[in-house]
Amino acid sequence: MTDRYERRALPVIGVPECTDCGSCCFNAHPAYIRIFERDAELIGAQLESYSVMLDGKRYMRFENGRCVALRLDSATGSVGCSIYAIRPDVCRSLERGSGECRSQLEMKWSRREAAFVALTASSADA
Ligand code: SF4
Ligand code: SF4
Repeated sequence: MTDRYERRALPVIGVPECTDCGSCCFNAHPAYIRIFERDAELIGAQLESYSVMLDGKRYMRFENGRCVALRLDSATGSVGCSIYAIRPDVCRSLERGSGECRSQLEMKWSRREAAFVALTASSADA
């Protein structure tokens, strides 16, 4: 298991594909990804399960420090937004490879790795 996660070390050069990253989908504070009216319309029937109201504003729901729409597959090592086509505007605006993206990678890549370790451990316990 150690080898597997060592291979996942943050690339020194370049930026991973978003479909193998998801670092920016982690945050400790629940008021992180704001959902506006247009976003709510796009998400449609799944809105209540994917979102939460905080101080009168709607946000993506976060559990265990990550957006509930983020799917981690410990079997394949893949990570991805399960509502990619209808994700909120705030998510679309973060351009892969931008300064903000690189900042998110630097801050949060380790959280993504920790989530994988926890997921693998809970699968082993089940
Ligand atoms: S925008 Fe950057 S931090 Fe976010 S998933 Fe894509 S590569 Fe990772
Ligand atoms: S909606 Fe998708 S892209 Fe946006 S934070 Fe959640 S998992 Fe990430």
